[in-house]
Amino acid sequence: MEIRLILGDQLNEKHIWFTALDDNVCYVMFEMRQETDYVKHHIQKVVAFFAAMRSFARKLEENGHQILYYTIDDPNNTQDLQKNIEKAINLFNAKKFAYQQPDEYRLDKQLEEISTQLEVPTKTYDTEHFLTTRDELKTFYEGKKSLVMEFFYRYMRKKHQYLMIDGQPEGGSWNYDKFNRNTWKGGTIPPPYKPDATLAKEIFPQVKAAGISTIGTFNADEFLFATTRKDSLAQLDYFCTYLLQDFGTFQDAMHQDETNLFHARISFSLNVKLIDPAEVIEHAIAAYRKNNDRISLSQIEGFVRQILGWREYIRGLYWKEMPQYKKKNELNNFGKLPAFYWTGKTKMNCLKTSIENSLQHAYAHHIQRLMITGNFALLLQTNPDEVDHWYLGIYADAVEWVQLPNTRGMSQYADGGILATKPYVSSGSYVNKMSNYCKGCSYDKKQRTGENACPFNSLYWNFLDDKREELRGNNRMGMMYNLLGKINPEELARIKERAYQIMENPDAF
Ligand SMILES: Cc1cc2nc3c(=O)[nH]c(=O)nc-3n(C[C@H](O)[C@H](O)[C@H](O)COP(=O)(O)OP(=O)(O)OC[C@H]3O[C@@H](n4cnc5c(N)ncnc54)[C@H](O)[C@@H]3O)c2cc1C
Ligand code: SF4
Repeated sequence: MEIRLILGDQLNEKHIWFTALDDNVCYVMFEMRQETDYVKHHIQKVVAFFAAMRSFARKLEENGHQILYYTIDDPNNTQDLQKNIEKAINLFNAKKFAYQQPDEYRLDKQLEEISTQLEVPTKTYDTEHFLTTRDELKTFYEGKKSLVMEFFYRYMRKKHQYLMIDGQPEGGSWNYDKFNRNTWKGGTIPPPYKPDATLAKEIFPQVKAAGISTIGTFNADEFLFATTRKDSLAQLDYFCTYLLQDFGTFQDAMHQDETNLFHARISFSLNVKLIDPAEVIEHAIAAYRKNNDRISLSQIEGFVRQILGWREYIRGLYWKEMPQYKKKNELNNFGKLPAFYWTGKTKMNCLKTSIENSLQHAYAHHIQRLMITGNFALLLQTNPDEVDHWYLGIYADAVEWVQLPNTRGMSQYADGGILATKPYVSSGSYVNKMSNYCKGCSYDKKQRTGENACPFNSLYWNFLDDKREELRGNNRMGMMYNLLGKINPEELARIKERAYQIMENPDAF
């Protein structure tokens, strides 16, 4: 008999493990406090994970597989991973133990350690989810100076022959990013796909009763995470049918009344492996081929780039740089994250809207994460550890391999430029250009000083001034530093005074 462990983000029904029934195999799944408690998670994230795990276990059982499942409140659940595995081995008198390689460094090390303690041999398997191996990106960039994502993306396009014709990118360009920057001026957007929330509704009180400490709110009517493969595929299809046609164009847009815009909302399903990147890309490309009268090349390329490019790149970078990546703080930031990140109680409308959305939905789209909450945290010169904790907890799709490089690297530039070529910082004018948040704000987007001035403005110039040393030699910052140089010293002193007032007590703003 062999015991095979399935982690909560390894719900891949197509894995080789499940291709045949085997009486000599028992699958084990555990709802663990070590997972619910390593950071304070959003309630919808915990509920979504448990719902997806329980549905997956049920499906395996229906298909005839043998399964041992410990819910969070099961008295048999020791809440110790090693003890649970040993218990299963003893219960079934198993002679072997197997697991799929975890995507998180923490669990990878833990399972490596546990396997040295077991009395039976251990075998590891690939998760068969990604389009790259763990070390493929490391090998690809070996000996290269810069880790710019675009090169890796082109390599992936060629390797997988997505949107390629006779060895050339379809349409003649690799990247249509310049068509992806429109603002949303209002109009009708199809409502987001509504997955079945019956199980989530059942699980919610159980999470509460277990005493798991969480953030955010749960409302079954607003729960938008697909927790079965069937629903995840339906959600993907809904996206391809109704939203893909505008995805690229409004990818960077933000709007006061639109939480989802044209985003796919599939990151949770992808990250727990209910669906895989190849089928997502292929389904979207098929929709484009069938409907190329309404889905243009720039829409599909923009989407493929996120999954084939960014997602695989982020994962490869994580494995290339861990574990030292988690400690990087190259901009020497040590500030605290404002308390309003957990309440949304701030007068700054862009932050209030993005944080309230996140607390209500365990979701924010990319530009809110990067240019509102991430931008502000960086301008405040917040300790990246604090920023990581917040992102890892609040979003249902947050698993360390994807959250960490996005937060610490892309959004906080704490890796000193391994991932991004320059810090993603902006004043209020970018926010105003890409959204309508400023129209409903108490602050004046044009002012840099004075009671009414938009806090992003003084913080932005102050950040550039404070980080001259760290950003010296970054050619991509030249224009920003030229503009900083044009501000007269008295004005800069006033800007810095206001910035320091904000940094000392951001919760007052
Ligand atoms: C600070 C910060 C933290 C982030 N944390 C996470 C996280 O914890 N988990 C996570 O999955 N994504 C994270 N992202 C990336 C991105 O914001 C989310 O993948 C996206 O918002 C998910 O929503 P969606 O499915 O509607 O995506 P869409 O906008 O519809 O994009 C489609 C898919 O592309 C992939 N994708 C797009 N951008 C990225 C990216 N930068 N990195 C990896 N995959 C990407 C995702 O799988 C996503 O589902 C983070 C980004 C930032 C700036
Ligand atoms: S004025 Fe400043 S604080 Fe207010 S919404 Fe615009 S960018 Fe945000």
